[in-house]
Amino acid sequence: MYDYGVVGGGIVGLAAAREGARARPGASMFLLEKEPAIARHQTGHNSGVIHSGIYYAPGSFKASLCREGASATKAFCAEHGIPFEDRGKLLVATSEAELVRMNALYKRSCENDIEVERIDARELTRREPNIAGLAALFVPSTAIVDYKRISAALADDFRASGGDLALSAQVVAIREEAAAVCVSTPSQTYRARALIVCGGLQSDRLAQMAGAPVSHRIVPFRGEYYALAPSRSGLISSLVYPIPDPALPFLGVHLTRTMDGGVIIGPNAVLGLAREKYEKFSFDARDVASFAGFPGFWRAIGPHLRSGLSELRNSLWKRGYLEECRKYCPTLELRDLEPAVAGIRAQAVLRDGGFAHDFVFAETARTLHVCNAPSPAATSAIPIAGVIASKIFALEQRQ
Ligand SMILES: Cc1cc2nc3c(=O)[nH]c(=O)nc-3n(C[C@H](O)[C@H](O)[C@H](O)COP(=O)(O)OP(=O)(O)OC[C@H]3O[C@@H](n4cnc5c(N)ncnc54)[C@H](O)[C@@H]3O)c2cc1C
Repeated sequence: MYDYGVVGGGIVGLAAAREGARARPGASMFLLEKEPAIARHQTGHNSGVIHSGIYYAPGSFKASLCREGASATKAFCAEHGIPFEDRGKLLVATSEAELVRMNALYKRSCENDIEVERIDARELTRREPNIAGLAALFVPSTAIVDYKRISAALADDFRASGGDLALSAQVVAIREEAAAVCVSTPSQTYRARALIVCGGLQSDRLAQMAGAPVSHRIVPFRGEYYALAPSRSGLISSLVYPIPDPALPFLGVHLTRTMDGGVIIGPNAVLGLAREKYEKFSFDARDVASFAGFPGFWRAIGPHLRSGLSELRNSLWKRGYLEECRKYCPTLELRDLEPAVAGIRAQAVLRDGGFAHDFVFAETARTLHVCNAPSPAATSAIPIAGVIASKIFALEQRQ
């Protein structure tokens, strides 16, 4: 019998396990991950950006956790000898409509208390000779890191404080008894007084397995990348983003420097036909049935049909993808874009057809489920772990 259990070895589960072990020294804990290694899904397939938090509604969980998370992540890296680079980020407006949205974003970043500089077209090109636009915002605190390295360090801290981390341990059943919650893998049953579940792309299924009230469904959205040919990796020095459409939960195709000295382009956002298969055209009948049978999915499609079709077209047609980037980086050529591995976002869609933009939790008597941990949850993982720990301790006190 353990004190606490965690399901999911992505960055959120790992940070929660480490935080639990720190907050309750001496408590016994386990973490179960179904893959043979940690960080195999969203955490290991992302852009590697430490976001500053300018986009998010002031007062939302996302806004405050991202700001706090950016400094906590950098402090964690410094403490654990993990390199990161403060590259800064440019948000480039390329049309009159985007200028209006850019000004709204500037206002929002001030409300979120984030340092941001407004620069004109000439200054933009002076700083980034390959980038063009009508104007831009520069956010100096945006940085890059390798989240797999952070995850490995979180796992080491958890193990060092006595936690048991089991890999290739797929949770297939969660059952609550009067004094414990039983978590079964095909080979073993673990018992704990309380359980935290951070299942990413499987979070709705795990919540249903535990009998938690869930009114949303996870819909997979592929984020496809290209890598810039090495000969062009000097193209940009900061990260370069378009001005996002506030109606969509995604940021638009951007140019990001990576810790290995390369540049990635993307991700786009295309409806996925499989939750955890990364090859293009991957299909999983159970995953498709799961969203196709959910009324909220069909309600969500209507308002986003146009943008969805345009994303699909650009996914199938490389030149279309290129044109998106050429709006702000006109010197890019087709031959500069080399295929790269995609990521898949776990997007919670609500019954009314809305996208959940913030963290979503669900509970039973002894289990707490992180049902939606949207980008930038890698940035926010350390403070979100604090929120998860206080929620699970509160839940335990009610027993
Ligand atoms: C394309 C893309 C780009 C992104 N870019 C950024 C970025 O630049 N910066 C940023 O801050 N955020 C970014 N994000 C968001 C960020 O990566 C995720 O929000 C974060 O990694 C979520 O972590 P997680 O632990 O909740 O999920 P995951 O990393 O998906 O982990 C969930 C884990 O649960 C395990 N699991 C599931 N079911 C079971 C089961 N039955 N039994 C045992 N284990 C199970 C899975 O195997 C997995 O390891 C991006 C995401 C994507 C997809």
